[in-house]
This record gives sequence, structure tokens and C-alpha cells, in this order.
Amino acid sequence: MEQQTLRTTDILISGGGVAGLTAAAAFGAAGFTTICVDPQPPVTAEGEAGADMRTTAFLHPSRAVLERAGLWARLAPYAAPLQIMRIIDAGGAEPVARLTRDFDAADLSDEPFGWNFPNWLLRREMVARLAELPLVDFRPGVATTGLVSRESGAEVTLSDGSRVRARLVVAADGRNSFIREAAGIPVKTTRYGQKALAFAVTHPLPHNDVSTEIHRSGGPFTLIPLPDRDGLHSSAVVWMERGAEAERLAALPVPEFEAAMTARSTGLLGPLTLVTRRSVWPMMTQIAARFAAERVALIAEAAHVIPPIGAQGLNMSLADLSCLLGLAEKDPAHLGEAAMLAAYTRRRWPEVKAREIGIDFLNRASMVEPRPLRDLRAGVLGALYSLKPVRRTLMRAGLGVR
Ligand SMILES: Cc1cc2nc3c(=O)[nH]c(=O)nc-3n(C[C@H](O)[C@H](O)[C@H](O)COP(=O)(O)OP(=O)(O)OC[C@H]3O[C@@H](n4cnc5c(N)ncnc54)[C@H](O)[C@@H]3O)c2cc1C
Repeated sequence: MEQQTLRTTDILISGGGVAGLTAAAAFGAAGFTTICVDPQPPVTAEGEAGADMRTTAFLHPSRAVLERAGLWARLAPYAAPLQIMRIIDAGGAEPVARLTRDFDAADLSDEPFGWNFPNWLLRREMVARLAELPLVDFRPGVATTGLVSRESGAEVTLSDGSRVRARLVVAADGRNSFIREAAGIPVKTTRYGQKALAFAVTHPLPHNDVSTEIHRSGGPFTLIPLPDRDGLHSSAVVWMERGAEAERLAALPVPEFEAAMTARSTGLLGPLTLVTRRSVWPMMTQIAARFAAERVALIAEAAHVIPPIGAQGLNMSLADLSCLLGLAEKDPAHLGEAAMLAAYTRRRWPEVKAREIGIDFLNRASMVEPRPLRDLRAGVLGALYSLKPVRRTLMRAGLGVR
């Protein structure tokens, strides 16, 4: 009977979001038997209900993780490169650009900063990759519902009544992680009363591989390059505003919304046309008190949530994965044991905390309403940018390279 089934595996991954699917491909490709479960079957087409309208800009260091997982070759044909990160301050009396500064990847190397992809497309290619990996058992429609851990291993109960004994449980089950709670790991959460709208647009002027963050008040308005769409130039947009304003914007009739977003974009790419639905995401900063418990490792949003500034979120998650995989491969005989998990928390937690502090500061600076503070923000940006070593250090820190 199903109730009595007990499977053993090296790794059980709770959660098949972008982070969990990447982890399953990475561990499976590295020779670990891996089961990945998620109650929500992945939505793999843009037009389907529940499709994730966000995009992910994978920064340079993430490509190595995707390559090792056998994912990069599948994704590369759909990549929109990010060559320049442009920051515009439009915090003056009128909503127009008053300070523009370009961070060019060419100052660091021959490669772009990163590559942007729609999240629904990532899911499609990742699920297809898992089907090629004999060591991976992906089970959509199934949740983790129980966790009992011992020094020798963890036993996880699944919503279909089956049980799995794993040497390591990887929690990739999002900001309300079941595994994190079952393991008794508390979180510290800061809410901003702010929401992000995520959608795609087309526009008459080319983006020229420039990702642009425009600051006025309420939070940044970011245009991120996408490949052309039906012969038209296209970008993804993340528009952060105070909660009530974001809800108002999300409910506006399309022509009014298009006029509002074109004005907020300072008209940079010409009139913007909405080509997908608008999805709304509450903004928060959240960090788990530690990233591991007995036989359990937290990765991605189960471990940390930050506002989408500087394309950090999922890139931090792939850095979690890279660290965990490196430790697992270095000493596979002791997978999931206390020393390995202590090393994981020791390496990742301080790095994540530092990034969380930085992003929290940038978000608060972008939200400011009073004019004197907006003027100060523009002044600080101009001053930091004018110092070349500082500019290079900021770029390298943003990428997560030393
Ligand atoms: C508007 C916006 C734009 C962003 N842009 C970027 C960007 O450009 N670059 C970047 O790096 N990051 C970006 N991020 C952040 C990034 O999208 C997130 O970090 C990432 O999607 C979170 O992935 P995840 O897999 O941890 O969580 P989720 O996508 O939430 O996945 C968690 C999964 O766990 C499953 N689950 C829940 N409970 C259980 C259970 N009991 N058992 C099994 N499974 C379970 C859920 O069904 C879900 O599929 C952005 C975020 C937002 C809000």
C-alpha cells in the first residue's frame, strides 16, 4: 500500500520553484539520488493561469551553477544579455531624469553582467532537463507534510502518504517554508508596506541591452531587457510602490496604466505597451536565524527574502546551492552530517546578512518621499559614481565576485 512505501534517497528537495528545480538538476547531475516534490505542478507557458510573470536576471557567477547542472545549454538561446546597469534619479520636482549613471560590464570583463529570462520559461526548460536525469525523481502535485530528523538521517512524510528517508533534506519551499518551520528555525521579517508589480512591455526604442533602475519615490521602477517579441522591442518591468498605490495601479484600465508607466519610466524607451498580465508581490526582507538544522539545509527564499533590487534574490539562492553542492561533493560519504551543515551556515549566513543590509538600505533610499532626502540620494549616487575604484568595487559586490 502507498502508506507503507518508504524510499531512500541521498537528497530530498522540498519545493520545485526555480531554486528547487535548479538544485534537483545540480545534485542529480553530480551523481546524488534526488527526489524533488512540489504541490503546485509547474506552469510552463506564459499564457496559462498561474504563470510566474517575473523574470530572473542571472548574474555572471550563476552561469557556472547552471552549466554544471546541464541547464545553461538549454537556456542560452533565450537569454537577453545585460551589458549596462543604468541608474536614473528622477526625484526632482518633475518626474524627469535629472541624474543618469551607467555601470558598464566592459569595465570588468568581456562578458555581460548577466542574462535575463522569464520565470515560466526557466521552469519549462528545467522540468525538461530533470526528465533527462536518471537519478532525479521529480514529483509535481506532492507536498512535504512531516519531518522527523535523527543524527543518522531524516524521514519525510509526503502528502500522497508515502515516506522518504533522506541523508539531506533541502528546503527550497519558499518564504513560508514548511521544512523550516518543522525544523524549528525562526525567521526575522521586516515589511515595508510596499508591493512590486511585475509584467512585460513592448516599446518603440531599443533597450540596447541596458537594464535601467529609475528612482523617484515609493521604490525603484526597473526595466530589464527581454528578447524582441513579435518583432517589437521588449522589456520586463518591476515597479515598486507603497502598497495602496501598487494595488491602485494594478487595477487601472490598461490605457491609463500604460500612460502612468510611460510617465514613471521618464519616457526613456518611448510609449510602453502592456503585453502580459500584471502580477503583484508584497515586499519584505526576511532571514532565517540559521540556514541548517539536523539533516536539513535551507536555500533560496526558505532562507532569505529581499526586495528585487540589483537582481540579487535568485542569484543569492544559486550561491547557496553552489556552496552546498561543493560541500557535498568534497565529502559525499558524510552528506548531510552536522559538520557539513555547520560549514554551510557558517559560509552562507554572514554573506546573505551583509547583502540583506545593503538591499534594505537601497530600498529605503529609493522609497523616500521628502525632496531634501531625494536630493541627498542623487548627490550620494553622483559622488560614489565619480570615484572609479568605488564604482568598480560596487559592480563587483553587486555581482557577488571578489
Ligand atoms: C517582482 C520580483 C522580481 C524578481 N526579480 C529577480 C531577478 O531579476 N533576479 C533574481 O535573482 N531574483 C529576482 N527575484 C527573486 C526571485 O524571483 C526569488 O528569489 C525566487 O523566485 C524564489 O524562488 P524560490 O524557489 O525560493 O521560491 P518559490 O518560487 O516561492 O518556490 C517555492 C516552491 O515551494 C513549493 N512549496 C511550498 N510548500 C511546499 C511543501 N510543503 N512541500 C513542497 N513544496 C512546497 C511552492 O509550491 C513553490 O513552487 C524577484 C522577485 C520578485 C518578487
